[in-house]
Amino acid sequence: MPRSLHLSEFERDFAELGAKPTHIRRLWRAWLGLASWQSQGHASYPKALQEKLPEIQSQLESLARFNVKESRQAESSKLLVMLPDGACVEAVLLPRQALCISTQVGCAVGCAFCMTGKGGLERQLSSAEIAAQYVAATRIKPDIKKVVLMGMGEPSHNLAAVEEAVEFIGDVAGLAHKQIVVSTVGDERLFDALPTWSVKPALALSLHTTDFEKRQKLLKNAPALTPEYLLQRTLDYAEQTKYPAQIEWTLLAGINDTFQEVERLAELVAGRYAMVNFIAVNPTEGSDFKRPSQDHIEDLITFLRRKGIVATLRDSAAQDIEGGCGQLRARHLSAAREAPISLEKLDR
Ligand code: SF4
Repeated sequence: MPRSLHLSEFERDFAELGAKPTHIRRLWRAWLGLASWQSQGHASYPKALQEKLPEIQSQLESLARFNVKESRQAESSKLLVMLPDGACVEAVLLPRQALCISTQVGCAVGCAFCMTGKGGLERQLSSAEIAAQYVAATRIKPDIKKVVLMGMGEPSHNLAAVEEAVEFIGDVAGLAHKQIVVSTVGDERLFDALPTWSVKPALALSLHTTDFEKRQKLLKNAPALTPEYLLQRTLDYAEQTKYPAQIEWTLLAGINDTFQEVERLAELVAGRYAMVNFIAVNPTEGSDFKRPSQDHIEDLITFLRRKGIVATLRDSAAQDIEGGCGQLRARHLSAAREAPISLEKLDR
């Protein structure tokens, strides 16, 4: 199986077949379902490109194939994304026309509460594979308005591919830039790069605690940067772009759900352009982490709101369909070891 190309490598190949920038734009719009694959009138494709069109179309369409699981609990669908080499990642269609996509197969950060983190990193996704999750999702739900790069993987570990995919989604597909959200555990490379991108996405910081040592234990391979520094970089970017910073906090009962910790968070973000999203942990098999009670979560939210901070409990999408990051894929891989899945059975 040939390796999956980046969007820029596809473009280089198109150019070698004689494509001009207008042809390349048209090919991308055809992949997005916004234009016909056939060339017309003054925008006719060069002969070499025209001859290769069926191959190009088939290669692009095969970048991401979906197996869809509907949630009974919310208007969410968990998507198992099958990649051309047989690897798989997860994407989730979320309420309010949003889509969550992955940036890597597996993840090297190793968060203690995350199923994806347990398996480590398998491989990078190409920029075309990241963008393909959006393209394929629009075939199921054409009105997607928001894309969050918050699925499997740490975007800062696959920075060049993430930049290309964000540019494609913001520029070619035309989503509002503030509706593209890159989520990170915090990494100098990403903080330094983001202000230079032509499409500047919103930024979400997976903070989870204001205690440096606790954070190093929970996010064992995250860069050793203090919560204060991470918040400073995230909030500075938010104020430059005028998109609020999203502070993500997975609530783990008895570990990071005390009023004392949340008060420290309030001190650090007071008066800054930020909102706090709590996510109650989705317990995974063999894990001791538990969700705090609903009453306690509501008390924490009220506590922050009284201090003037926007705080919400984010819907941990599709709890009934292996909703935690990596659980659907883990279930699929374990089933596949017993009975390999047939691609013909996968929905598109
Ligand atoms: S929570 Fe995110 S960063 Fe942490 S291991 Fe899972 S995928 Fe990686």
